[in-house]
Amino acid sequence: MNKTLLKNGIIVNADGKQKKDILLENGKISTIGDVKDFGNDVKIINCADRLIFPGMIDAHTHIGIPIKAGNSADDFESGSKSALNGGVTTIIDFTVLDKDQSLNESVLERQRLAEKSVIDVSMHCNITRFDKNILNEIPEIIKMGITSFKVFTTYKEAGMMLTYNEIEEVAKIITDNGGLLMVHAEDNDVIEKSSFPLIQRKLNEPKYHAIARPAESEEVAVEKIANIAERTECDFYLVHLNTANGLGIAKQSNKLFIETCPQYLLLDDSVYERADGQMYVASPPLRKKEDCEALWQGVMDGSIDVIATDHCPFMLKDKPPGIPFQDIPNGMGGVETLFPIMLAQFLKRGADLSRLVQLISTNPAKIFNLYPQKGKIAVGSDADLVVVNPEDITENWMDKLISKIDWNAYIGFPAIFPNEVFHKGK
Ligand SMILES: [Zn+2]
Repeated sequence: MNKTLLKNGIIVNADGKQKKDILLENGKISTIGDVKDFGNDVKIINCADRLIFPGMIDAHTHIGIPIKAGNSADDFESGSKSALNGGVTTIIDFTVLDKDQSLNESVLERQRLAEKSVIDVSMHCNITRFDKNILNEIPEIIKMGITSFKVFTTYKEAGMMLTYNEIEEVAKIITDNGGLLMVHAEDNDVIEKSSFPLIQRKLNEPKYHAIARPAESEEVAVEKIANIAERTECDFYLVHLNTANGLGIAKQSNKLFIETCPQYLLLDDSVYERADGQMYVASPPLRKKEDCEALWQGVMDGSIDVIATDHCPFMLKDKPPGIPFQDIPNGMGGVETLFPIMLAQFLKRGADLSRLVQLISTNPAKIFNLYPQKGKIAVGSDADLVVVNPEDITENWMDKLISKIDWNAYIGFPAIFPNEVFHKGK
């Protein structure tokens, strides 16, 4: 049997809600409407009082990446299963460019690892080295169908930074070939100036992580990127925007897409004082309550385009208390809780659920060339669907998680986990 009929649910798309039946056939949505004539060979699911969303897209994950302390938790198999459990049917992950590797080799290597995924995986191509060969390869990578690249304005010590001039060179080539440039925007000079005195004075508890990488680092970097965008006319995408002032600068440009993450909306730097404060160490760091509020404003008024997670989870044993902040593995998990937590927040705030669909499904699908196959409940689109009972809100959901990870940043927050998630009709 490869037909499924979702009966009497409320479809939530980016442009509004409607009560209609949905027939899934051979992995696609074949009919939307009052479906009466569907034959015998159909599994029927009663969706009365259920909301049905298009499959969610997490446009920013790092599944099982190598770092100093080992690999981040989960591989593509376990990570993708946990994503699906939370309503995410597509992830967009990043390549890892090793020393001496070509861009092409880095893409093929990551795609090979991603074959174990149970959901769709797209790739962004990291450019963490600047030389002639890399520049020459960019058009070729775009022809392969990978159109989004990412650069860093920091991590000089780790050998991953590009200077602003180098970023401008990359941007010119990308815009000539029809791609998009993503930027991790924290200014390295500002970070060096702020962090060196702390390290010298051995002020190394988790709370100093936020002081070492101050909000000013984002403001400076965003301003410079906005200027490069203006000069090159390249489309840029700012990953994990996290400060009120950074947002204020970024939203004035029409060449910048803006992403933020649940952690920057829901958590502030006071968590670094907690007993498990080291677990919240990620870069960029968590900010002040006022920054969270400014970002919420941006989420609601449309200046923020995407909510994604920067998913890079670690086990408790990987981040034991007492390590100096500069040596703590950076990152937190989030792909499994992205939709359940954000849906509960939107309902709590009485916000429009179509806006939520725009942020976590439709906009990333459009920006990263997956639309309308993804990002919309429509005839002909992939049968990626999330069925939810909005009454299923709970603060005790840790046992619903299937990820291997033994810690979660959102413990105690309300969440609504889906009743059913379909990926390509299954
Ligand atoms: Zn990231």
